[in-house]
Amino acid sequence: MMEAYPLGFDPSSRDKRRWDCYGSKVNVLLSLRERGNVTRSVTSTEVIFRLDQSMIELPDESWRALFRRRLLAWYRRHGRDLPWRGTCDPYVIWVSEIMLQQTQVETVKPYFARFLAEFPTIESLARAEEDRVLRLWEGLGYYRRARQLHQAAKRVVAEHAGVFPRQLPAVDQLPGIGRYTAGAILSIAFDAREPILEANTVRLFSRLVAFRGETFSTQGQRLLWAMAEALLPRRHPGRFNQALMDLGSEVCTGRAPRCGECPVSSLCLARQAGLETEIPTPKRKPVVESRHEAALIVRRRGRVLLLHRPEGQRWAGLWDFPRYPVYAEHPLGLAQELADHVRRQLGIAIEVGGRVATLRHGVTRFRITLECYEARYLSGGVAAPGPPPIETRWLRPEELGQYPLSTTGRKLCQWAG
Ligand code: SF4
Repeated sequence: MMEAYPLGFDPSSRDKRRWDCYGSKVNVLLSLRERGNVTRSVTSTEVIFRLDQSMIELPDESWRALFRRRLLAWYRRHGRDLPWRGTCDPYVIWVSEIMLQQTQVETVKPYFARFLAEFPTIESLARAEEDRVLRLWEGLGYYRRARQLHQAAKRVVAEHAGVFPRQLPAVDQLPGIGRYTAGAILSIAFDAREPILEANTVRLFSRLVAFRGETFSTQGQRLLWAMAEALLPRRHPGRFNQALMDLGSEVCTGRAPRCGECPVSSLCLARQAGLETEIPTPKRKPVVESRHEAALIVRRRGRVLLLHRPEGQRWAGLWDFPRYPVYAEHPLGLAQELADHVRRQLGIAIEVGGRVATLRHGVTRFRITLECYEARYLSGGVAAPGPPPIETRWLRPEELGQYPLSTTGRKLCQWAG
């Protein structure tokens, strides 16, 4: 418990209870003040506001009004010109939001254009074969997004006559749409008063209130969503949400925020405390593990073998060359190990030949070295025993372009011809 209270603090007030409960966290601020990083007097309310969001006093209305004015004035001059802007079509906004999850804007642009050229409406997407949807998504990664978007389009057609729902509970039910995506679609398409919280706004809000906790903890999320709700204006919330994202993306950037150009710098507590590069607290990086895998180009009468990646596996829904983790060190041991894998999984006998390529790539926290080998079909049926049951196809090399493959699978195609 803290013994001392800050200047101007009334120990008889309800603030005392808060202070006593959260005193250890307040130490952080006191040390900041001692270092001279806080450039103006800090009241007890601000202390609590900054250090513990369960007791947070959200910014008052005059702060919020000033923040909105400055943000929107900046957005009028500096808002990004993006292909999915300037439309109120919820389908277009939806596709862009799903593609932008975990993916840079510049990477998304060509995918977005191709996807909408082929599937301009919810109905056209709902009618499509999943292979075709995944083929257009190929290279964008996180393929579950594409499969869920496809499933959700079918639901919109089946349950809402092809019209994207306007109510949050209905949107929330759709596969692949979480609280952020629902808020973004509804606010941008229909000007619904729904807040948003994504990577850019997490960073921006954390800095505005100098929140030093874990942004993805329950506590952090509660604070940041409360902030998103409190800031949202009554008029044009969609435009406001886009302005927040743009400020986070263009000015309040991850490594080196451009505070000198920031329209809300005088309102920013992290800036005032000199903590803008320390907030938000960086996520602990997962430990990277090395893996060794092998892929096989199995040939049979001018065709090569592909299998359909089953549900629950990495790249579910995509097609792939047979690929297995390997442990054998010696080439002869490896050939036998791979042949055994294929026999057990696919029910066919093969003879493994020479190595044709080595590829290195990353999947989540794994750094994978993938060795690719030639192999020759010897005998056995093509109906795959599994488990799980696996669909296989013998394809001519020129047919490979029609099938959605992972990035390394696509690279292997050059040796399959
Ligand atoms: S002043 Fe700096 S840290 Fe604060 S919101 Fe602006 S860019 Fe971000």
